[in-house]
Amino acid sequence: MRPAIIRKTAADLRVAPNSPLTWEEARRALAGLPGGGLNIAYEAVDRHAAGANASRVAIRWLPAAGAPRDFTFADLASLSSRFANVLRGFGIAKGDVVFVLCARIPELYAAVLGGLKLGAMVSPLFSAFGPEPIRTRVNLGRGKVLVTTELLYQRKIAKVEAGMPTLAHVMRVDGEEGRRLVAEASDRFEIERTDAETPALLHFTSGTTGTPKGAVHVHGAVVAHYATGRYALDLHPEDIFWCTADPGWVTGTSYGIVAPLVHGVTSIVDEAEFDTERWYRNLQDQRVTVWYTAPTAIRMLMKAGAEVARKYRFPELRFVASVGEPLNPEAVWWGKDVLGLPIHDNWWQTETGDIMIANTPAMDVKPGSMGKPLPGVEACIARRTDEGVKIVDLPGVEGELALRAGWPSMFRGYLDQEERYRKCFAGGLYFTGDLARRDADGYFWFVGRADDVIKSAGHLIGPFEVESALMEHPAVAEAGVIGKPDPVVGEVVKAFVSLRAGFEPSEKLRMELLGHARKRLGAAVAPKEIEFAPSLPRTRSGKIMRRLLKARELGLPEGDTSTLEGTA
Ligand code: AMP
Repeated sequence: MRPAIIRKTAADLRVAPNSPLTWEEARRALAGLPGGGLNIAYEAVDRHAAGANASRVAIRWLPAAGAPRDFTFADLASLSSRFANVLRGFGIAKGDVVFVLCARIPELYAAVLGGLKLGAMVSPLFSAFGPEPIRTRVNLGRGKVLVTTELLYQRKIAKVEAGMPTLAHVMRVDGEEGRRLVAEASDRFEIERTDAETPALLHFTSGTTGTPKGAVHVHGAVVAHYATGRYALDLHPEDIFWCTADPGWVTGTSYGIVAPLVHGVTSIVDEAEFDTERWYRNLQDQRVTVWYTAPTAIRMLMKAGAEVARKYRFPELRFVASVGEPLNPEAVWWGKDVLGLPIHDNWWQTETGDIMIANTPAMDVKPGSMGKPLPGVEACIARRTDEGVKIVDLPGVEGELALRAGWPSMFRGYLDQEERYRKCFAGGLYFTGDLARRDADGYFWFVGRADDVIKSAGHLIGPFEVESALMEHPAVAEAGVIGKPDPVVGEVVKAFVSLRAGFEPSEKLRMELLGHARKRLGAAVAPKEIEFAPSLPRTRSGKIMRRLLKARELGLPEGDTSTLEGTA
């Protein structure tokens, strides 16, 4: 039996861990725009490019094939200024929305930072999305420019371009025109005057119903990126940091772009997808010191076996953190056994913009727990009742995880969905939609989601978006989508489908529907399994009862079915 707690000693800490900062101290540690104001891109690149860090490597890019390429802070400052000028040339001004759909290539980073310099609201999209999720998001965000590559354009955009009427330009960075525009643009750009409340980033997240929600983040979020980069990830100036998340998701932006750059730290950016040997080689050859990854990746490494890891050496690695899904205790211990370091779980979500609950380097780790709220974060377990908000003070009691509203990177709205935003708050608290409990030592433990959204390989997937794509197929009468537990990716997307009159279930039709969904939604979102059902359980008001589908799938008690259609 493994102990319930991993106690840290001085020997576990190869460098003295950073001390915490108040939000105010973090704000003071940033430079602010010359002449006043605050801008993420200035803090991330231009300020370093103008100072002692100019020739330090900001991004070491590992292309899928070929030799690594280094971009110093000075390089990144000029490249992002070129992109800012190109975007301005397209008519983009402060407040306009720029979408970026690229693989993890340097231009992605330059386009995001360039858009931020211009005061635009930038929305990075996951490049594994299919045409449908892209079109939906660009239209919801009223995107004016989409920055992409030739390949992604041909595969995902060309067919749906006409369905995105607000787009004035699609820039293909590796196309003839894209390359020429960047080469001809000036590498100097005076950053637009933005302040802490100016919208900066737009991250789409999924709910149970309706369209995806565009969470709006402001330039002031950089205060939290700096503070948590320092305290939760323990970044020191000489670190080599690798955040494995794609910038199409909030972790890949907050900690794959902003936090390490703001700290003047070198980041590894790997263009390639997950590959066991490649990842170990990256950790070894790039001498990664701080590694921020995700449970699915760790479980894939575990599955490959410890012998693979033993071919490599990681003497430089000193801190490993994980986010995005529950991290099972075995994974924490695997880290200790194979990497020589426990994996430090932390918790946050798109809406919070930065890490809120974490196991920090100096803390004892309780494997299976997300850790404790960071300094400046007030987290509690709460319930919303008809009589108001009740904070559950007793350790061990489950409830919804809630946070005292007002931290710097808190989302400032769901684009065009004021009511949905307001519903997240009550009694001065932001309700996260996660169920959790707190123990007597103040550690938080994840219990599950309060809603039906699916977490697959760390990606949040809205069942409604998947159901809508399936319903577009002429054979489908109704569709209900659930997350089916999976030992590696957490949950896989499974769809139940009933057919229209005139269609019969068959293996051929099942394959056709899987292919249809994959083409529209992309591999990351499409269902992996489809099961035909004569009809789907619905509430009397007509909503598909996904909970019941899930309970039946798992052979669990069906719970309260009093609202089920057809019951008395
Ligand atoms: P996203 O907004 O896509 O980043 O997803 C956020 C959601 O992922 C949270 O609300 C949780 O449901 C889940 N999540 C994130 N971190 C953790 C964690 N450390 N343990 C368990 N679930 C997590």
